[in-house]
Amino acid sequence: MSIVVQKYGGSSVADVNKIRQVAERVMQTKRAGHDVVVVVSAMGKTTDGLLALAREVSPSPPRRELDMLVSTGERVSMALLSMAIQKRGCDAISFTGSQSGIITNDRHFDARIIEVRPHRVEDELARGRVVIVAGYQGMSYKREITTLGRGGSDTTAIAMAAALGAERAEIYSDVDGVYSADPRVVPDAKHLPELSYEAMQEMAEAGAKVLNAAAVEFAKRAKITIHARATFSPGRETVVREAATNGAARAVVGQRGLVRVSVQGDHAVLDRALAIAEQGGVAAHDVEADRTGGAFLVATLHAPGFGAVRTEIEGALAGAARFEDGVAMVSFVGDLRAHARPIARELLRVLGDASIVPHRMATTALRVSALVDEASVDRAVQAVHRALVNDP
Ligand code: ADP
Ligand code: ASP
Ligand code: MG
Repeated sequence: MSIVVQKYGGSSVADVNKIRQVAERVMQTKRAGHDVVVVVSAMGKTTDGLLALAREVSPSPPRRELDMLVSTGERVSMALLSMAIQKRGCDAISFTGSQSGIITNDRHFDARIIEVRPHRVEDELARGRVVIVAGYQGMSYKREITTLGRGGSDTTAIAMAAALGAERAEIYSDVDGVYSADPRVVPDAKHLPELSYEAMQEMAEAGAKVLNAAAVEFAKRAKITIHARATFSPGRETVVREAATNGAARAVVGQRGLVRVSVQGDHAVLDRALAIAEQGGVAAHDVEADRTGGAFLVATLHAPGFGAVRTEIEGALAGAARFEDGVAMVSFVGDLRAHARPIARELLRVLGDASIVPHRMATTALRVSALVDEASVDRAVQAVHRALVNDP
């Protein structure tokens, strides 16, 4: 029997009624003759709610305890879905990440999966049960509960598919696939039926939350085909796989919630700031250095400990550090060489026409990004999409 791995995101299990509908979907797949493993996210915005509770109790909560807290979200939805399936007369069992054999490194809040030992999952499938796995979590080799970074249920699904020898993972959410921009921001964004791993990875790394970047990277390594679909209106889908025909897709991505940290002084000063960030578990992106100092970006969504890190950098570097809050990034993703006109100048012109002044710009072979004020990021995405995707 073939194994199907399905992942249902937070909006798909947001209330009891939706959980019942997901149970029906899962049972249809089971009746069609497949072994079914279901990965679930926490209900609706549960994870955000739990993090807000933590911040009420402490401005810089220990990451270990954050993991203990947020991992409960997925435990709720896995148990409810299992109950809903069993009530309909189908045998099911739920497992936490650690029970499912998801072993991670010992980095709390954004752990990486190092191994999956899905013996219990396989045993239960062999008994004819549907297996529900809590997404977003695992257990470190030190037997601590860890979580896989925001949006990490996608990663659980891909890792499970790879470990069970499934060739594909179905990722169900509130959109019927990946578009050339977030359809909430750009209503006429184009649906992309097929994408290469590279293009999807670039979009995810630029901040498109439709698929988690680590999940796409995992899928690429394990050659798992991703089918991104809408839970409640199946029809269209985006298939992410090797040798996709639409490898040269063009897309625009906006990412909010960035802070730019810049330091003045020699490189030892920059190194000091980076070391403090690293010790506080805060990832530094787009690091720059020149003769007068350096800078890096922090994505606050993924860095719950940034408050404490900031205080420490301020203390250690006295007046040499500056923090720019409320920054966002707009990125155009695609094969830039395939573009008729020089893309950096195009981006400057498009932003200029929309009266948006970029704080800075950077280009790679596959992406050109500009930092802008958070307040203008949606406008920037719309303008860039209009000019470079609709009318290249
Ligand atoms: P889930 O909770 O199911 O994991 P997410 O909220 O993480 O779902 O991801 C789905 C959301 O991603 C959509 O509601 C959409 O607003 C957003 N999104 C951002 N960029 C894109 C894009 N390029 N294509 C499709 N959706 C996108
Ligand atoms: N519940 C987690 C989050 O909100 C994981 C996920 O949704 O994939 O980030
Ligand atoms: Mg998600």
